[in-house]
Amino acid sequence: MKKVSAIILRIVMLMMFGFPVFAVSPFSLPITTIIIDPGHGGNDPGALSANALQLEEKSVVLDLSQRIKYELSVLIPQATVLMTREDDRFISLEDRARIARTADPGVDGSSILVSIHANGSQYEEASGFEILMKHEQKQVVFFPDDIQDWQLVRYSGMSTSTLNKALNLENRQLARALQERIASQFPDSRNRGIKEQDVWVLNASAIPSVLIEIGFITNSAESEQMTDSVWLDLMARSIAEGIILYSNR
Ligand SMILES: [Zn+2]
Repeated sequence: MKKVSAIILRIVMLMMFGFPVFAVSPFSLPITTIIIDPGHGGNDPGALSANALQLEEKSVVLDLSQRIKYELSVLIPQATVLMTREDDRFISLEDRARIARTADPGVDGSSILVSIHANGSQYEEASGFEILMKHEQKQVVFFPDDIQDWQLVRYSGMSTSTLNKALNLENRQLARALQERIASQFPDSRNRGIKEQDVWVLNASAIPSVLIEIGFITNSAESEQMTDSVWLDLMARSIAEGIILYSNR
């Protein structure tokens, strides 16, 4: 039923406005909704530290995400900040993407997803932060069966390929803004760059989205930092500042 009404609305919009209905990117509106996605949780601990700290990625990223939420409430109080989980519980990748995809940013706003992770490696010396975005050639589905009315209005009249191009541009701008802020606040941390990767949540969220690997939990020095609240506060502020930098694009 949803699909049929989606098709009918698209036809009506085409008859009324011609093609394309919206020439501007549907992602160019001010950021009104920010979804912070702490990775893992519940029976999925994520990566584990190799040292006596016995740190679990799921706990580090939840702690950091709560600090990011706080920083955003100070820096951009008018925005809604959602978290895919607020405590230690398992959330499926499908549910994470659904939360991002269906959160209504309002007619005058747009939304982004920032997924927070800590890296792991079998090599103790592996270190540094990196930012992942979806492969640019990966085509996102913008008209799923459970499409929301606001998405329908926003995406109507635009081809999937045009929408994907617009999304890729936003992903890269968001990744660059985050990289710039983290690199400048942590000049001693190795900047591993922006990488295109096949990450399920990034492919399925259908909004500008990136995944930040804040450092290696398997590296002794970096896992120590992940227990330091001064370090965590600075990382949270850098990420919040990156989001603000992107939203001022
Ligand atoms: Zn992870």
